[in-house]
Amino acid sequence: MYYSSGNYEAFARPKKPEGVDSKSAYIIGSGLAALSAACYLVRDGQMEGSRVYVLEKDPVTGGACDGMYYTNVGYVMRGGREMDNHFECMWDLFRSVPSIETEGVSVLDEYYRLNKADPNFSLCRATENRGQDAHTDKKFGLSDKACSQLMKLYLTSNEELYNKKITDVFDDEVLNSNFWLYWRTMFAF
Ligand SMILES: Cc1cc2nc3c(=O)[nH]c(=O)nc-3n(C[C@H](O)[C@H](O)[C@H](O)COP(=O)(O)OP(=O)(O)OC[C@H]3O[C@@H](n4cnc5c(N)ncnc54)[C@H](O)[C@@H]3O)c2cc1C
Repeated sequence: MYYSSGNYEAFARPKKPEGVDSKSAYIIGSGLAALSAACYLVRDGQMEGSRVYVLEKDPVTGGACDGMYYTNVGYVMRGGREMDNHFECMWDLFRSVPSIETEGVSVLDEYYRLNKADPNFSLCRATENRGQDAHTDKKFGLSDKACSQLMKLYLTSNEELYNKKITDVFDDEVLNSNFWLYWRTMFAF
């Protein structure tokens, strides 16, 4: 999807590339990037899907976004996945991928309708005492000293950080802040 100013160019479909019917594509890996490339080859490059080969070295496909099917549970994947309204390319891609289950419906429609029927969002970012709002109130709570420690780290080269612990670069000004709480609990890691 190509946005120039507005969506004039975004919705125009490319002409079929010359000679595409006699070409094949071999994509290394089966992560999101690979699957997106395969979709774009089919949708925009107008290559037959049967000419696109996805080669994966691992026994499980999907890379960092792998998932397993369990008969009694359904599909389960590691970690949570947070999607943003401005994943422009992904939503564009999802709307061109047909649903496996429902005719005339796209993956985007399925995703959107599921979120309407079963909304999934957080009422607060951090909890304490078994589910009480920790009232971090979307504030990083960083002092000037903490900000300068963060900026210093940001401007330090990778090599200079070899063999250093996080406590060598941050003290309690950072480590007791909401920012650090947000950072270390990001994606529930
Ligand atoms: C637990 C977790 C939670 C996440 N949460 C979010 C989230 O909420 N929102 C979000 O936007 N992102 C999230 N991410 C990040 C997102 O999942 C990844 O950025 C994305 O899946 C990466 O896709 P990729 O195709 O670039 O790479 P990968 O998924 O790493 O795919 C690369 C693939 O190539 C294969 N490969 C490598 N070398 C070879 C080779 N020589 N031959 C064959 N195959 C090879 C690998 O085995 C792998 O399958 C999360 C990631 C994790 C792990």
